[in-house]
Amino acid sequence: MGDNDQLRRFLFEDLPVRGQFVRLDASWRAIIEHQDYPSLAVHTLGEAMAASVLMAGTLKFEGRLLLQCQGQGPLRLLLAECTHARAIRGVARLAGACPESASLDLLTGGGQLSLTIENPERDQRYQGVVPMEQAQLAGCLEAYFERSEQLPSRLMLAATRTRAAGLLLQRIPAGEEGEEPTAEAWERLGLLLATLTAEELLHQPCEVILHRLFNEDDLRLFEGEPVFFQCACSRERVEGILQSLGTVEVEAVLAEQGRVEVRCEFCNRAWIFDAVDVGMVMAAAPSTSQGAGPH
Ligand SMILES: [Zn+2]
Repeated sequence: MGDNDQLRRFLFEDLPVRGQFVRLDASWRAIIEHQDYPSLAVHTLGEAMAASVLMAGTLKFEGRLLLQCQGQGPLRLLLAECTHARAIRGVARLAGACPESASLDLLTGGGQLSLTIENPERDQRYQGVVPMEQAQLAGCLEAYFERSEQLPSRLMLAATRTRAAGLLLQRIPAGEEGEEPTAEAWERLGLLLATLTAEELLHQPCEVILHRLFNEDDLRLFEGEPVFFQCACSRERVEGILQSLGTVEVEAVLAEQGRVEVRCEFCNRAWIFDAVDVGMVMAAAPSTSQGAGPH
């Protein structure tokens, strides 16, 4: 299947509107293969993964984009990452039983959705936040674009255990390329997009979907850009986490288990430190303890 694990960009020739289509297949299954997520968590994380690729595709940046949903509901944390090279990884953290079905605001306990762009090399960081007040992730992201970027956008997302996909339409800002679309034209595209079913989005070729929805318009569809699963964990990062935990805690684990094992929650890889390793890592800890993140 030509569109699997691809981001496809397209332009409306006669309207200042651009779009993107993404379908995650093997890259998505790699993210959940070591996990035992309930269906609703799979569905929500899959949509977030597709959305992270679409959002990364709208930006010029170097580093990684993190889409994060955080709240006090059964779904405590959802993290979807996409780098400028379109390497993705993601994780969901649950607390207690996950319902069979629930709207996003209930599932997350009405928390917040944040979008962070990090460039670790230049130590730059940008963050935008919106409350999760919508029943669907797509609605939250539309609100995000409206509030934070002033970029009216329409978004459809879908995910199962085997695939995740998304389709985004976005108005090109005035001044960047010609005129604003008329309100009627934009409305018309939004109504057409709303007729797209999850089944089509997940299984039909991109060309077929675009033709079905927008056959009245001239579209230019670009070549696919590959998306792939890749974890960013490294021994160095795990050493940083051990150092931030402190000698007392790490030595306690070592005494109890004979070694320290840190398992990456994104890729399930185990990083193992024996007594000699632990001694070297803790001796090399910076004197001012730096708060190392979980990734
Ligand atoms: Zn990893």
